[in-house]
Amino acid sequence: MTTILDHWVGGAPWTGASERTSPVYNPALGTVQKELRLATAADIDEAVGVASAAWAQWRDASIAKRQGVMFAFRELLNARKQELAEILTSEHGKVLSDALGEIARGMEVVEFACGVGHLTKGAYSENVSTDVDVYTLRQPLGVVGIISPFNFPAMVPLWFFSIALAAGNAVILKPSEKDPSAANWLAALLTEAGLPHGVLNVVHGDKEAVDALLHHPDVAAISFVGSTPIAKYVYETATGAGKRVQALGGAKNHMLVLPDADLDLAADAAVNAGFGSAGERCMAISVVLAVDTVADELVAKISERMATLRTGDGTRGCDMGPLITRQHRDKVASYIDVAAADGAAVVVDGRGVEVDGEADGFWLGPTLIDKVPTSSSVYRDEIFGPVLSVVRVAGYEEGLGIINGSPYGNGTAIFTNDGGAARRFQREARVGMIGINVPIPVPVAYHSFGGWKASLFGDAKAYGPHGFEFFTAEKAITSRWLDPSHGGLNLGFPQHT
Ligand code: NAD
Repeated sequence: MTTILDHWVGGAPWTGASERTSPVYNPALGTVQKELRLATAADIDEAVGVASAAWAQWRDASIAKRQGVMFAFRELLNARKQELAEILTSEHGKVLSDALGEIARGMEVVEFACGVGHLTKGAYSENVSTDVDVYTLRQPLGVVGIISPFNFPAMVPLWFFSIALAAGNAVILKPSEKDPSAANWLAALLTEAGLPHGVLNVVHGDKEAVDALLHHPDVAAISFVGSTPIAKYVYETATGAGKRVQALGGAKNHMLVLPDADLDLAADAAVNAGFGSAGERCMAISVVLAVDTVADELVAKISERMATLRTGDGTRGCDMGPLITRQHRDKVASYIDVAAADGAAVVVDGRGVEVDGEADGFWLGPTLIDKVPTSSSVYRDEIFGPVLSVVRVAGYEEGLGIINGSPYGNGTAIFTNDGGAARRFQREARVGMIGINVPIPVPVAYHSFGGWKASLFGDAKAYGPHGFEFFTAEKAITSRWLDPSHGGLNLGFPQHT
């Protein structure tokens, strides 16, 4: 009998009314391990009703109570992270050490949310007019929807729900249908940590569930992470329905290597950032911009390192796991033929890789393509797999021009020992997150994460100060404690005295 994964609503597994399911694979085995229940619009409506009822209590829970839940959750998560890492590896395919890294970066945001009391402090101006004070405070929005992608099934939900809950909101989380179990596991752990039932609900589904959330009148805000076309659709649809929206989209991240860089360190960085998590990271480096004078040497150093990588089952100590689905693997692999047809040089072809894993897994080994023309779809498309392109450039100016010409602006990095060049780069690159000799510049939890251009729709980034502001609304209060001298009629616009 196939296992069915249910939704999690009201503090317990919940079936809902839908008959539709979708398969959840183990990508390292290539087999279906469970079926996932897919919510209807009516299921979403019921879950939002549960969340709204729970919010009526949770919004009034003290800061101490909300922080207490987050502290308890953090302790449980830290103690049981291995269990969660195994779930991530079995459904996503990423190797166990990488799954633990994902959890650690998500846990940072839980830790940030433990300090929510500090963030709630508003501003106070005494005596703005005689005996009149003005102060501001921030309040939760209500029920918020979080829609997350397959590539970080724990970290991305943790980015959003930790802050949303600590700020006093109730949440409907709609995780990716490709690797959904982590969301239920996290919801159960939050219940164990003392979160009241119904404050965090997980509803699984596809477009039908997403559309129902985007249109639901009792959902106040949407946080979305996924590909650019869906991010744009979510942003336009949900803002059209009057909601506050942050929609983080896809990426194509460049790493510019100047001739004065330490080429060994740059090659290490390119391999780690290009092939970690099989390239299925929104902050993966997918293009190395190599200055002509050092390009041959850099390509040689990258390919030497690639030869040492072991691709295989993430439970066996390999460096790189499978891709998420067979279709995605085939699509990623198809770019290798496109590259050859477009005149690029395929230096390492991952299709022939020897794998430490089952034959039916969704494998593709690390692939390196040199001399990629920027007109090729290999350069232009977000491939989202272990295919690293090298584009050769004459120098800094040409590299910067390519980066700034990209429709995406998530992350980018420069490798150099020239402080002046690095400083110019941080100023001139039109990208949301910049690395200086750091290939994957994901900011720590007390800064905020987000790109520019087609990598983020909306003006609020994820987590950090932006995250707290996104999940709260500011209120300004003007206060006067009356005494008899304040009497008298005056219909003019209030002025300061
Ligand atoms: P995706 O866009 O296919 O799916 C994301 C979410 O949207 C999922 O929950 C999915 O169920 C839902 N969805 C899919 N199609 C939909 C439709 N037609 N209508 C409504 N909802 C729909 O993305 P993915 O393949 O799961 O994730 C990979 C993508 O996410 C990559 O493009 C990657 O760059 C991006 N990503 C971006 C960031 C970032 O911070 N900018 C972080 C992680 C991933």
